Amino acid sequence: MTVYADNAATTRMSRTALDAMLPAMEENYGNPSSLHSVGQRAAELLMKSRETVARCLNCQPREIIFTSGGSEADNQALLSAAAIGRRKGKMHIISTAFEHHAILHTLKKLEKEGFEVELLPVHENGMVSAQQVADAIREDTCLVTVMYANNEIGSILPIEEIGAVCREKGVLFHTDAVQAAGHLPIDVQAQHIDMLSLSGHKFHGPKGVGALYVRGGIPLVNVIEGGAQERGKRAGTENVPGIAGMAAALEEACAHMEENRVKVTALRDKLIAGLSRIPHSAVNGDLEHRLPGNVNFCFEGIEGESLLLLLDAAGICASSGSACTSGSLDPSHVLLAIGRPHEVAHGSLRLSLCEWNTQEEVDHILREVPRVVEYLRSMSPVWKDLESGKKAFML
Ligand SMILES: *Cc1c(COP(=O)(O)O)cnc(C)c1O
Repeated sequence: MTVYADNAATTRMSRTALDAMLPAMEENYGNPSSLHSVGQRAAELLMKSRETVARCLNCQPREIIFTSGGSEADNQALLSAAAIGRRKGKMHIISTAFEHHAILHTLKKLEKEGFEVELLPVHENGMVSAQQVADAIREDTCLVTVMYANNEIGSILPIEEIGAVCREKGVLFHTDAVQAAGHLPIDVQAQHIDMLSLSGHKFHGPKGVGALYVRGGIPLVNVIEGGAQERGKRAGTENVPGIAGMAAALEEACAHMEENRVKVTALRDKLIAGLSRIPHSAVNGDLEHRLPGNVNFCFEGIEGESLLLLLDAAGICASSGSACTSGSLDPSHVLLAIGRPHEVAHGSLRLSLCEWNTQEEVDHILREVPRVVEYLRSMSPVWKDLESGKKAFML
């Protein structure tokens, strides 16, 4: 049995997405810029896909730029907003401490170019409020970028309120909606969103394709220079199969959003309730404003990496909060942002579910995780110190 519980990292493609992609490779394989019939069929597919994505976000098709994924969309959104800011002499950018690295690393780059970046602190329940954003906005703020939902701990942020604050103060608002698209309702009008990033592979679409929504009239800077594709804003022959697959996957996800939410939330809550019974454990993130599929725990006295390896041996594909960067094992910046101490942040586990997970799989996880945690603790010198009272428990 292989239980795939790492859907926040990427998802398996749906039959619908595959069925949309194959004709784009076998029949409509032309270059959409070509004038002949094969090219024009590809152009038609591209146009239809753009209309589909636009419908799912409630925007105009010409406000959609197809990119190579969420990271590129994030980069282009931030660099474009920064360019507008620089022209107006507005050099202050507001974001949060627990954004995806596609945001945080781009902000670091902008900081080196003279921008002042303010990362709002995250409450220990994993939330950032619209009031925090309102309080941080200044005369010289050119951009607010706040993620819709966090990829590690699943917090759903009050995007509509944050959008309203930004609109009222006349500040551009971008949201990284990569974890939200296909899973949570998106309406860029009602939610006052100026720019939004999404990525195909987080909702059963293909990898290497994403989209950036940009409200009409907001000028973009190119990340990729070259031909005149995507209204001249993103060069390179369009990834027509990928785009068609992503559009089909998004349409399907949006059509089944409510039933998927109900199903996945039930599985999630069963997992959270079961894993909470493990002694000296704590759930990370808010229980109420939470992505349907997200489960994230810290277990004291163990290393997340060892836990993952043993769970893999038990047929469970999961993830730890921590990212292995340049050889050193740094704990997750997200867990540190919500105030978890380093030692505790190291013992984290993220299980992210989709509508294809089953009760049986959840039962399997609930058998295996407590067993593996207990086994690792039985071998852990840190756990010995905690049990003997030499060190104090933090959870
Ligand atoms: C996955 C992810 C990204 C990056 O998307 P890619 O398509 O893999 O580049 C950005 N932001 C968040 C929140 C994500 O979960």
